[in-house]
Amino acid sequence: MIVMKFGGTSNRDADAMANVLRIITSHLAERPVVVISAIANATNDLEESARTAASGDAATGEAIVTRFYARHLALVDALVKDSSRAGIVTGAFSGYIKELTTLLHGLAILRELTPRTMDAVCSYGERFSSRIIAAGLQESGVDAVWVDAKEFMLTDSNFGKALPVMDAVTSNLARVVVPLLERRQVPVTQGFIGVTASGAYTTMGRESSDFSAAIIGAAMDADRVQIWTDVDGILTADPRMVPDVRKVRRMSFDEAFELSYFGAKVLHPNTMLPLLDKNIPVEIRNSRRKEGTGTLIDQRGAAPAGVQAVKSISFSADVTVISVSPRKRTNQYLFWEGVFSVLSRSEIDVRSVTTSEYRIAFAIAGAYESSTVIPRLEEVGQVAVFPGQASLCIVGSGLREWAGFAGRVFGALTGLKTSLVAYGASGLNMTVVVERRSLEEALLRLHVEFFGSPAKGGEFDVPFN
Ligand code: ASP
Ligand code: MG
Repeated sequence: MIVMKFGGTSNRDADAMANVLRIITSHLAERPVVVISAIANATNDLEESARTAASGDAATGEAIVTRFYARHLALVDALVKDSSRAGIVTGAFSGYIKELTTLLHGLAILRELTPRTMDAVCSYGERFSSRIIAAGLQESGVDAVWVDAKEFMLTDSNFGKALPVMDAVTSNLARVVVPLLERRQVPVTQGFIGVTASGAYTTMGRESSDFSAAIIGAAMDADRVQIWTDVDGILTADPRMVPDVRKVRRMSFDEAFELSYFGAKVLHPNTMLPLLDKNIPVEIRNSRRKEGTGTLIDQRGAAPAGVQAVKSISFSADVTVISVSPRKRTNQYLFWEGVFSVLSRSEIDVRSVTTSEYRIAFAIAGAYESSTVIPRLEEVGQVAVFPGQASLCIVGSGLREWAGFAGRVFGALTGLKTSLVAYGASGLNMTVVVERRSLEEALLRLHVEFFGSPAKGGEFDVPFN
């Protein structure tokens, strides 16, 4: 069996959704489990409605939800012609809307928005969209069954960033979803959302439907997980920044993880984690060009030993570098422990770290000049903050063994200020932090350096022996 996940842009409007239905129908022989995201912008709208209601303005919150509802009703109208089938979907919708409106009123009365309530509100995006896809498939004669993720996706109760309880998810799927496949039915479910042991909806973080697909794929021992999106695959750089990017044909789980962790938007970084051990490949495919081959991510995607190649360059445009030095230059290990304990208590994901004899500097995504973490770090040592930075992450195979790699990076960046460099931890990437205003220049130069000038377009492949 395979898992097919469709993101928000694949479900932008009725034409896009009709296309999704055709793609699913052309893969029936592979016995798909279908995972659906909310339609484009729906999750943003739901978040905004919750925030607006919690500020005391229930009417505006409700108006946002009314527009959200109308968009979905129009999609049912366009895609589900059979009136009794459409009636079942709109019947479910009107129940959802009543609950959602009640929730918004509660928020306006309490004027408080907890992560738990935010997750409850956001859960509706996927619940609406997946019902339309299931009914749309039935409309084209496919025996599709809508499955509530609540029936299987058990998570912890870290609302807004929940993680799955894999054993339970595996046995739930075996009970709820496997029998459907055995009957040759097509289960259609929701990405992004899960449920706590006590029955509350959770979410696994923005853009995490990819992760949901991977969890389901791993739990069900899928042959592969397909992520259908609006780009041809993983590209050598962001096409909005670099005109002549190429598509990467194949990469390893580790490379894909580094790329997405360091800013590439195409995949949620957690996606690779459940699939690694079982070596279940991920395919990234373009729903608008379904004949394309996409990018294949698997264990063998790294180049064979001895082959060195840069695969892609990602970036974060908003990075702060913070450096800390101890007031006394003794007991360095205590100093480092102090720094890291502040960072972990503040739940800060450090992107890159570098040290000198008595100083430590790290890059973090976001703006931190006025963050509470600064005074906390000042209790540990002297702090300097460098705002307005951007990081570039060069990802590839065999970088550590590649004599001359660093020289090529720094040669390309000649004349630009670099405020931090991290290299060597994984052998898969080098991160360079530059001033934000030179980000584009740095990216273009690195792209020319590693992919040619001007890059030829088409596919990029590591030269396999
Ligand atoms: N709908 C959710 C979001 O917009 C999850 C996803 O699309 O992956 O973040
Ligand atoms: Mg996405």
